[in-house]
Amino acid sequence: MSTNKEDLFKNVISHAKEYGFVFPSSEIYDGLSAVYDYGQLGAELKNNIKTYWWKAMVQMNENIVGIDSAIFMHPKIWKASGHVDGFNDPMIDNKDSKKRYRADNLLEDRITKYERDGKTDKAKQLEADLESCLKNDDLAGLRQLIIDHEIVCPVSGTRNWTDVRQFNLMFSTQFGSIAEDAEAVYLRPETAQGIFVNFLNVQKSGRMKIPFGIAQIGKAFRNEVIARQFIMRMREFEQMEMQFFVRPGTEMEWYQHWKEARLKWHLALGTDPSKYRYHDHAKLAHYANAAVDIEFEFPFGFKEVEGIHSRTDFDLKQHQEYSGKKLQFFDPEINQNYVPYVIETSIGLDRMFLLTLCNAYQEEDLSEGDKTDSRTVLKLHPSLAPVKAAVLPLTKKDGLPEKAREIMNMMKLDFNMQYDEKDAIGKRYRRQDAIGTPFCITVDYESLENNTVTIRHRDSMQQERVSVDQLERIIGDLVSWKNLLS
Ligand code: ATP
Repeated sequence: MSTNKEDLFKNVISHAKEYGFVFPSSEIYDGLSAVYDYGQLGAELKNNIKTYWWKAMVQMNENIVGIDSAIFMHPKIWKASGHVDGFNDPMIDNKDSKKRYRADNLLEDRITKYERDGKTDKAKQLEADLESCLKNDDLAGLRQLIIDHEIVCPVSGTRNWTDVRQFNLMFSTQFGSIAEDAEAVYLRPETAQGIFVNFLNVQKSGRMKIPFGIAQIGKAFRNEVIARQFIMRMREFEQMEMQFFVRPGTEMEWYQHWKEARLKWHLALGTDPSKYRYHDHAKLAHYANAAVDIEFEFPFGFKEVEGIHSRTDFDLKQHQEYSGKKLQFFDPEINQNYVPYVIETSIGLDRMFLLTLCNAYQEEDLSEGDKTDSRTVLKLHPSLAPVKAAVLPLTKKDGLPEKAREIMNMMKLDFNMQYDEKDAIGKRYRRQDAIGTPFCITVDYESLENNTVTIRHRDSMQQERVSVDQLERIIGDLVSWKNLLS
C-alpha cells in the first residue's frame, strides 16, 4: 500500500504501464524524453475524455461548432500571434550538473514545499515575489530568488547557477521536397491559431451569429525546457480548445460564464470539489485582459489543468494586419462591423487523462478478521471507463462459454466489452477492477435455466441478478452520457 503521495504517484505511473494505459515512447530504444504513447486501454480512455468534452462543448451548445485544422500552418501566423518573439520560458542551468531547469518551476516547487511544511507566510511571500518577477520579465530577479531561497540543483546538490535566459518553445522543421528551397515551418504550439485563421470560413459557411464558438481537439508541440511528472508536461501533447467570439464590451460576462461552466464540467464527473481551485493570473499574457487557471490537486500539488482566457481582439486584429484580410463581423442588432472579442477555454487532454487516472486510482484494504485481502481499483466514471463491461462465464464448460459469447455478440457493437474465461472468478473481478471496468456480467448455471446473469458493480462489489433481455438497457443507462450532460 502506498504510504505517501510520492509513492502513490509512482504506483499510478507503473499501473498505467502495467495495464496498457501509457507507455514511454520508443521504449525499446531507451525512450524519448517527454514523449509518451497511449496503449490499448489508454487510447480508449483518451477517446472517452475527448467525447465527453466534444459533446459538452459542441453537441450541447447550438452556437458552438467543431473543426479540425492542420498542424502545419503558414509561418507568418506565428509572427502575428506573438509566438516567434514571445513564446519563451525562463531557463537556468546548474554549472556542475549541466542540467537545465525552468526558473519559475524551481520556485514553484519551493512554494509547494513551504506549503507542505506549514510555512504559509514564506510560501505566500515567495509566490508574490515570483509573480512580480514574471510580470516584469525580471530575469535577474528570478535568479536572485533562487539564490535567496537556497535552491539547490537536485542532481549536483550545488547552488552554482548560470544567469536566467529566455528559451523559445517552438519546434521548427523544413517544408518542401528540395532542401535548399525549403522554408522553415513550425509545429503548432497551440491549436487556437487554427481556429482564428478559420474564423471567417466558419462564420460564413455556417452562417454563425455572434456570440458563437469554434472548438477543436488536436496535437500541439512545445520544446519544454524540462519535462517532468510523467504526462503532465510533454513535448508532444493534445489540447481541447474553444474560442468563443463575442461583441466587444460583453467579454467579461462571457468570461465569467465559461469560468463557471468549465469547472462544472470537471465536477460533473463526481470528483471531490476540494481537489479543484481557481488560480487567477497575476501576469497576463500579451493578448489577455483576464485569465484564470483551473487547478487540480495532483499527488505533487495543485497544478493547472485548464486555462480560461479573455483574449480581447488581439489575435484577430493581428491576423488582419499580417494577412491584409478583414476579419470582422457585421452585427445586425447594432448595425455595426467589428473585430469580435474572444474568450478561450483551453484544456490539456493528457493532463485531464492524468488527473482522471490519479483521481480514480485506489488501493483498498479488504481484510476481514484474520483474512488479509486488498485490491487496486480504478474508480473511473462509467462513461469514461475504457471497458464498459466484462462478460465472465463462471466455468469453461457445460455451455457457459457459449452463453457468455452470445451476450458478448449482442453487446459488443454498442459497448466496448471484454470476454474473459481464464482463472477463478475472483481473480477475473480483480483484473477488471484494476482497469476500471464498472460492471462484470457473470454467466452461471442459473443463466442456462432462466436466461438471467449477475451484474457485479465495481465500486460496491455488490451483485444483482437481471434478465439477459434487460442487459443492454441496464448497461446503456449506467454508462450513458446523459448521466454527465443533462
Ligand atoms: P504551463 O504553465 O503548465 O506551461 P501553459 O499556461 O503554458 O501551461 P497554456 O498555453 O494555457 O498552458 O495551454 C493550455 C493547456 O494545455 C494547459 O492548461 C495544459 O493543460 C496543456 N498543456 C500546456 N503545455 C503542456 C505540455 N507541455 N504537456 C501537456 N499539456 C500541456
